[in-house]
Amino acid sequence: MADTIKRILVTGGAGFLGSHICERLIAQGHDVICLDNFFTSQKQNITHLLGKPNFEFIRHDVTHPIWLEVDEIYNMACPASPVHYQYNPIKTMKVSVMGAINVLGMAKRCRAKVLQASTSEVYGDPPPDVHPQPESYRGNVNPIGVRACYDEGKRAAETLFFDYHRSNNVNIRVVRIFNTYGPRMHPYDGRVVSNFIVQALTGQDITLYGDGSQTRSFCYVDDLVEAIIRMMNAPDSFIGPVNIGNPDEFTIKQLAELVIKLTDSKSKLVHLPLPADDPTQRKPDITLAKKHLDWSPAIKLEQGLKKTIEYFSGIDLRHFRKPTDHTAHKNTERYTGKK
Ligand code: NAD
Ligand code: UDP
Repeated sequence: MADTIKRILVTGGAGFLGSHICERLIAQGHDVICLDNFFTSQKQNITHLLGKPNFEFIRHDVTHPIWLEVDEIYNMACPASPVHYQYNPIKTMKVSVMGAINVLGMAKRCRAKVLQASTSEVYGDPPPDVHPQPESYRGNVNPIGVRACYDEGKRAAETLFFDYHRSNNVNIRVVRIFNTYGPRMHPYDGRVVSNFIVQALTGQDITLYGDGSQTRSFCYVDDLVEAIIRMMNAPDSFIGPVNIGNPDEFTIKQLAELVIKLTDSKSKLVHLPLPADDPTQRKPDITLAKKHLDWSPAIKLEQGLKKTIEYFSGIDLRHFRKPTDHTAHKNTERYTGKK
């Protein structure tokens, strides 16, 4: 239990990472407010928390201001997988930028500490000599590409965080999260780990984009949550940005083969075209996290995948919807002029 009980807002708290953060903070005895509009998540992620006396849920869109009294804010709200963030790219940019302005305004008014969930995507597609990527690398993002709504949105959010810090003395923390996986990932979010596991478990072909030689470094959710909470509680002299991820790097083909082995699946590998601007390689330099947070990941890919496979084996896929299935999100499409 924590020495001091704080009131903590988690935006995007019903999402994959947000729900694990809520769970951990509740266990520490804090009063947790989870704010979400269920754009890319579902109630199932937080049903087990709803009866807890120190948990409350608010259905709200972070692009609109909201008046709350809080001590800390974890700003996790944002569609995070390429399929989800490209579904309505203008809305994605608004969530990053207007969401940041709204939580920063609240933090300024309440004198709350506010943590931004940034991303390795701020590095874009780094050249081979910037490997692993340190926080000092300024990135190689295509500002007009299909991933830009997310990458540039998150970059603008980082700028806003540092400007509010410099101009208004807001107490900020910025974490750059690298590919993270685990229970409560959305089965249809199109991310590689969820795709491969669902495909393997349901006997579908495993879809390798390109030749599968592109790399990612996968962090298990429990390791990530530990680092994020440590960062929120780090001394005010260390505000980031700090890379949080697991430096063990795998090609996407290696990941596919491991998932097939662990699920004992008969699925075959098939190759599909590589999406535009897909980064070739990605691996975090976690020197700063080790030094300032005394943190490094403990869970190896095989171990984390087993837990994730167990989760996906236990859910009923018919109960999960895609953002495109929601009338409310169709209304957003009409609003933005899309068919
Ligand atoms: P997720 O899609 O599961 O969670 C995002 C949550 O935000 C969802 O519950 C969604 O409904 C909510 N949300 C989206 N738009 C909203 C809005 N306008 N108002 C209120 N809520 C809204 O994704 P995740 O993997 O849990 O990601 C959480 C955060 O971490 C995101 O900001 C993401 O950019 C960042 N991140 C995640 C990863 C990763 O590998 N999981 C990597 C880098 C950064
Ligand atoms: N990928 C793949 N097959 C899939 C989904 C993704 O080969 O079914 C690849 C994708 O092209 C990328 C990597 O896996 O190179 C990671 O994709 P993901 O969407 O999980 O995350 P991100 O590209 O944002 O790191």
